[in-house]
Amino acid sequence: MIATLNMDITKVAQSKIDKVDFQNIQFGMTYSDHLFAADYEDGEWRNFKIDPYDDIKISPASPALHYGISIFEGLKAYKHEDGNVYVFRPDKNLERFNKSAERMCMPLLPENIYFDGLNTLLDLDREWVPNVPGTSLYIRPFMYSNDDYIGIRPSRNFKFMIITCPVGAYYAKPVKVKIEEHFVRAVEGGSGFCKTGCNYGPAIYPAKLAQEKGYDQLIWTDGKAHKYIEESGTMNVMFVIGNKLITPALGDTILPGITRDSVLILAREWGYDVEERKVEVAEVISAAKDGTLKEAFGAGTAATIAHIELIGFNGDDHKLPNVEEREFSNKVLKAMDDIKLGRVQDKHNWLHKI
Ligand SMILES: *Cc1c(COP(=O)(O)O)cnc(C)c1O
Repeated sequence: MIATLNMDITKVAQSKIDKVDFQNIQFGMTYSDHLFAADYEDGEWRNFKIDPYDDIKISPASPALHYGISIFEGLKAYKHEDGNVYVFRPDKNLERFNKSAERMCMPLLPENIYFDGLNTLLDLDREWVPNVPGTSLYIRPFMYSNDDYIGIRPSRNFKFMIITCPVGAYYAKPVKVKIEEHFVRAVEGGSGFCKTGCNYGPAIYPAKLAQEKGYDQLIWTDGKAHKYIEESGTMNVMFVIGNKLITPALGDTILPGITRDSVLILAREWGYDVEERKVEVAEVISAAKDGTLKEAFGAGTAATIAHIELIGFNGDDHKLPNVEEREFSNKVLKAMDDIKLGRVQDKHNWLHKI
């Protein structure tokens, strides 16, 4: 694809790709050769650049460092058997990025800057998209305040960047989760629906406490009474109870996941009975006890589907049926992989070719 932005492209003198063991990649440790960057200054976007991936210069007074004035996205590119590179639903990430931007008093990112940046960067670092089964290139667009001003007010200067990193095969080991009844991730009126830095930092401590008790992650509940289920770690959460697929309805405390949306679209097409509504903790626990809770899983870009093996609540652990017995989550995981990897026709137009 041909870039329409006036972009300054500086390539690395020597690629780092030879040093990467694509059979054995650790998440987030290795970044591709280049990054895309743009500045927002004096009310407009300018300085469109592709540069070698490197450290950045930032004012010690930047509100990004002090007040979490930063937003991000996460999406993936896949290499098909024919060698072409495709990104999964990048338009949805831009839509969500701009909702986060509005909530954080940041400028909206125009579509052409996002897509020209993405296309040019991925075209240049095409070799970094691994083709080992299960691997992909993780794409992290982000924006932060580039002001040199420590006061609390809407910022005026911003930096937008895209960095990418190859990610290894995700051996989706089923997870043990604990229903959180004290700490909260988001409250009504807050910023839970945004991917903004300030939502994630405070969630690490409660997750660490749960990990010390042997769980992999938390199931977050509503911030008022801990009565309703909201999300699972940094994934949306879904349950199969009886013959219904049930997931918490979106609202300002829940991140509107693109995996969630895709799973629901497929489920409805397949004729499943889908309910998006408030989901009570009590309902899930009683279904676990009487055996009607057939499946539970997290849905997100990282794992696509993360099967939940066990749910801890109030000191008791409730074990779920074996993963092999789970009809819906296995079927939807395979269907999503088939679409992403081009093994079936992309009839929803979810793939964006680089
Ligand atoms: C990113 C994220 C998700 C999943 O969104 P996807 O678009 O499916 O990757 C869910 N919950 C939280 C809190 C997230 O940050």
